Amino acid sequence: MPAANDISPALLWLRRDLRLADNPALHAAIERGGPVIPVWILDPVAEATGAAHRWRMEGSLRALARDLEGLGARLILRRGAALDVLRDLAKETGADAVLWNRLYDGPARARDEAVKSALRSDGLEARSFNGALLHEPWTVETGQGGPYKVYTPYWRAVAERVVHEPIAAPSRWPSPQGWPASDALDAWGMAADMRRGAPVLAERVEIGERAALQRLAAFLEEDLRAYAEERDRPDREATSGLSHHLAVGEISPRQIWAATQPRRQGAVAKPAQKFLQELVWREFAYHLLHHSPEMATDNWRPEWSAFPWREDGEAAEAWRRGRTGIEAVDAAMRELFVTGRMHNRFRMIAANYLTKHMLVHWKVGEAWFRDTLVDWDPASNALGWQWVAGSGPDAAPYFRVFNPQTQAEKFDPDGVYRDRFIAEGRAKPHADALAFFEAAPRAWGLSPGDRYPDKPIVGLKEGRQQALDAYQDWKSRR
Ligand code: FAD
Repeated sequence: MPAANDISPALLWLRRDLRLADNPALHAAIERGGPVIPVWILDPVAEATGAAHRWRMEGSLRALARDLEGLGARLILRRGAALDVLRDLAKETGADAVLWNRLYDGPARARDEAVKSALRSDGLEARSFNGALLHEPWTVETGQGGPYKVYTPYWRAVAERVVHEPIAAPSRWPSPQGWPASDALDAWGMAADMRRGAPVLAERVEIGERAALQRLAAFLEEDLRAYAEERDRPDREATSGLSHHLAVGEISPRQIWAATQPRRQGAVAKPAQKFLQELVWREFAYHLLHHSPEMATDNWRPEWSAFPWREDGEAAEAWRRGRTGIEAVDAAMRELFVTGRMHNRFRMIAANYLTKHMLVHWKVGEAWFRDTLVDWDPASNALGWQWVAGSGPDAAPYFRVFNPQTQAEKFDPDGVYRDRFIAEGRAKPHADALAFFEAAPRAWGLSPGDRYPDKPIVGLKEGRQQALDAYQDWKSRR
């Protein structure tokens, strides 16, 4: 067997897969037998992501760089067009291969396809792997041979499918004789757009591969039992909280799937199944996005383009600021600012109020979530919004208008969640409710001493009727 340094180095191009365990491209790079140089590139695709995602990514890069140092390796950071950077690095290091894990959203796919063919025409080995999904979108087909459009049959198709076992993290790193130069992460200012929000989030978001694995273990041990009954209760913190780790790839769905398998039998079989079904919603979202990349930006059902959506404006601004006067909606919008996340049930409630009572286009909400969620995911965000708005595949019908008040009474019966995030009018506001005012832009001019809006910006009865009328009108014109 040749010594490691007789084989040319491989560049491991990391993107939203910032982990050492179950990283197929990393595994394949090490298997080649030569040195491996991990690189992360701040290219136009990465720069175009939202402020919260870039902040989250910066933290994750820092954590990965530390883990790599623990193995005697370095994370090389470069800025520029991905192809130019990879070509330069290959020249500098003598690398003859570039390996990466696939992404499935339109902009990343377009970039990656161009990079792959250009590198191959340069004579380099360019290979990509599945590190982000249980099953790649094109491997799951209906009996007729096309993609699934409805979740339940999709779930049935994959529920018992064999999932590749996760790959262990390397115990040693094949380092090159010298490391190429790297940019300094701090100099990039990836978190710059977060301004006042960053210190608030930093106290509430655990970052890195180790934190992700610990969260998974704690969830399975402590919270899974009650997941099926309590996952809709934001006051119980009953869900896994893994979405922001998945969003930057600090953990893989295969690791989650494998760790949950032993629990599919016995006392926790029901909640384990429910949890895996939720994980598979993420897969389904990627399945749809792969087959309809335009879903990220346009109505999945084209007829919705004729719906009388309202554009951005005063109502949407009140929604963004958590000042609609509907506590369930405002609590959710403030949770987003304080934690970078939002409970799934309250995502649905907040999105429903924007797209139904306010009649504002789902794209306005999608863009806000894209900028503010630390768990922003191109597929799940697009699917979530189009599901609520009724314009997506397998979506909730538009005429199903949630009443946020009734929803809150059902899922936050003691008002714990609303008290946690709303300060106005409370004798002793919760620390998280006060933190919202720390995190919110100063230009919004909000203060915990303000009066809470006396009446909703759009009344529930009036908003519901308006939505139903618009729907009827649109339907009659089709
Ligand atoms: P758990 O209940 O513990 O679920 C485990 C995992 O399953 C999650 O981490 C997630 O990967 C997946 N999952 C659960 N529910 C869904 C779902 N409805 N759709 C897709 N995957 C799901 N999720 C994101 O990860 N990023 C987004 O940008 C995003 N935007 C959304 C926008 C709207 C309008 C709506 C209604 C939902 C959105 N979701 C998004 C889905 C869902 O709200 C979150 O995945 C969930 O709240 C994450 O919390 P958790 O990790 O504790 O979930």
